[in-house]
Amino acid sequence: MIEVRNLTKKYGDHLAVNDLSFTIENGKIYGLLGPNGAGKSTTMNIITGYISATDGTVRIDGHDIAEEPAEAKACIGYPPLYTDMTAAEYLDFVARAKGMPYDAALRQEKEVMQLTGIEPVKDRLLKNLSKGYRQRVGIAQAMLGDPDVIILDEPTVGLDPKQIIEIRDLIKKLGS
Ligand code: ADP
Ligand code: MG
Repeated sequence: MIEVRNLTKKYGDHLAVNDLSFTIENGKIYGLLGPNGAGKSTTMNIITGYISATDGTVRIDGHDIAEEPAEAKACIGYPPLYTDMTAAEYLDFVARAKGMPYDAALRQEKEVMQLTGIEPVKDRLLKNLSKGYRQRVGIAQAMLGDPDVIILDEPTVGLDPKQIIEIRDLIKKLGS
């Protein structure tokens, strides 16, 4: 569960997020909607501990992201990509960074590759993959370690209509 309370973010004098509160329950898929500049990415970056809030609190499964960042972040999957690695190397790297035991890592790497349909491209460099496949790799790495929360910022941006449907189906699968 994610609990956001009275979240405010100022960049200098610029108010990017203004007193935002919401609760996100387990097993559900939520979207943050709003025009460019509404503060969606800022909110997600605060929830994931990537930047700090000016005011307000975020708790992930009861852990305050500012006070217990390691515990809170352990509950979250949020995908950045290093594009000079192959998909398989990247998943392995992420599994190690998450501190997963070797056997569990091997097993889960296979599982998430199957679920996201990236097995056929696992030995290709990420920078040579289509946007749709790169998005899948991002989702696959976010799934490693079974986090309670997966946060995706514009997961279908730049994808073609077929890829958008595929990514939406994949997100539905994750939610269940
Ligand atoms: P969204 O993701 O909804 O498009 P953002 O969270 O990226 O919105 O941006 C919210 C507002 O904060 C915008 O007005 C944007 O220009 C501003 N902003 C975002 N990041 C920064 C930053 N690092 N420094 C200054 N202003 C920023
Ligand atoms: Mg954004």
